[in-house]
Amino acid sequence: MQVFDKLYINGAWVAPHGKKTIDVTNASTEEVMATIPEGDETDIDAAVKAARDAFDSWSATTPAARAEILSKIRDGLKARGDELAKAIAAEVGMPLKMASRIQVGMPIVTFGNYTKMLADYPFEERLVNSLVVREAVGVVAAITPWNYPLHQIACKVAPALAAGCTIVLKPSEVAPVNAFLFAEILHAAGVPKGVFNLVTGVGTVVGEALAKHPEVDMVSFTGSTRAGKRVTELAAQTVKRVALELGGKSASVILEDADLAAAVKGTIGACYLNSGQTCSAHTRMLVPESRYDEAKQLAAAAAQSYTPGDAFSETARLGPLVSATQRERVRNYINKGIEEGAELVCGGAEAPDGLPKGYFVKPTVLGRVKPDSTVAQEEIFGPVLSIITYKDEEEAVRIANDSLYGLAGGVWAGSEEHALKVARRLRTGQVDINGGAFNQLAPFGGYKQSGNGRENGKPGLEEFLEYKAMQLKVEKQA
Ligand code: NAD
Repeated sequence: MQVFDKLYINGAWVAPHGKKTIDVTNASTEEVMATIPEGDETDIDAAVKAARDAFDSWSATTPAARAEILSKIRDGLKARGDELAKAIAAEVGMPLKMASRIQVGMPIVTFGNYTKMLADYPFEERLVNSLVVREAVGVVAAITPWNYPLHQIACKVAPALAAGCTIVLKPSEVAPVNAFLFAEILHAAGVPKGVFNLVTGVGTVVGEALAKHPEVDMVSFTGSTRAGKRVTELAAQTVKRVALELGGKSASVILEDADLAAAVKGTIGACYLNSGQTCSAHTRMLVPESRYDEAKQLAAAAAQSYTPGDAFSETARLGPLVSATQRERVRNYINKGIEEGAELVCGGAEAPDGLPKGYFVKPTVLGRVKPDSTVAQEEIFGPVLSIITYKDEEEAVRIANDSLYGLAGGVWAGSEEHALKVARRLRTGQVDINGGAFNQLAPFGGYKQSGNGRENGKPGLEEFLEYKAMQLKVEKQA
């Protein structure tokens, strides 16, 4: 078992003021794998002060100097990639090979992308008689969840550092081990003291202390819509900038002329990734009424190829959920779906065979789900796909948009042109066309209650920048 008993504040590992600790469990075995400090408001005050003190000098560095640090962090992530992948496979439960490719691979790309972007990002622009400059927003509080823990940290820390901001990171207390390794990597990369600080603890204490702290200029939050609303309320008292990446209930719209087999397989893949614990998961599959039986059979066959198992086993394609709480939540949703009239196509609420330990849930498909039922409206965050039928394209678009959320989605059609025509009508931040791949340079974020703002790419950097316009006195030509 690993014991982390210090917080990273002002460039050093320091004993926390809060004396309690939090257990971290291995999702596949339910054993305690680590303990971390439960920080308190005094720890937050110390971390924010360090970030505030470091801001003037860090924000005055050149983009090239910041790029050098980012590039060293990228190298550090690469060098410690195996260790990071093992930590995340254990604490989150994603099968190791996949964790290495996705959970560690994406952060490496993110730091690489922002290193490159700093080479030619226009921080200054002349506009008639104004010199418009883009400056760091200030001290940033980064509050992150457990499902892609290092990726979500990287999506905030890389652009915030690139912009010249200083940071206090409050990672999820459910999967925090990777964040400690990340802080070690930043220290070794030579990030100056106070520029990056790490405080662990529970959201209602340290998360809220950050959201209301008068010396924090911006909160960048990823997590549940419930907590995002609370952070926004608290941040409003000091008019902080707030960026939110929240939940989703994304639709995969399969049109009449699509390759049904490819579309169903692709949708199951986009639903079950990370055992369904993905904010952008395609959890509602919309199919023409006439193709329901065929779609149902294809979905059951695809679902059954997702063998559940320990994240460290060679055969597992579907790891456990992250915690007992999440497992219970997902099982309750499966039962609720059946109670509300859905057909159980495959899977179900009981534990998968041969896995008495670990937070496993069977790969599940619910059929004939009514668009207004609980499982079609609420985020389940487990390996549960709902199939919904539609009569015509108008109805498909209406059902897809009938959600409080608007984060992601997919359209499958016989031609790109047909798919794009429907995709343009979806009220959502991303749409994959015929299974188009995730692009880390494209803006990621939500419409409606899926959030405010965008991560990744240029918009992801600009979240952390202010505008300043300086009007120059221009002499009239004689
Ligand atoms: P969560 O909201 O419980 O926790 C997220 C983070 O917020 C954690 O660090 C937690 O400690 C903190 N927190 C909790 N309550 C808080 C409060 N009152 N004030 C301040 N901070 C608080 O979410 P989770 O269970 O860790 O993650 C799952 C959720 O995150 C899902 O709803 C998922 O859709 C969403 N998510 C969204 C994205 C996205 O980019 N849109 C990405 C990943 C996850």
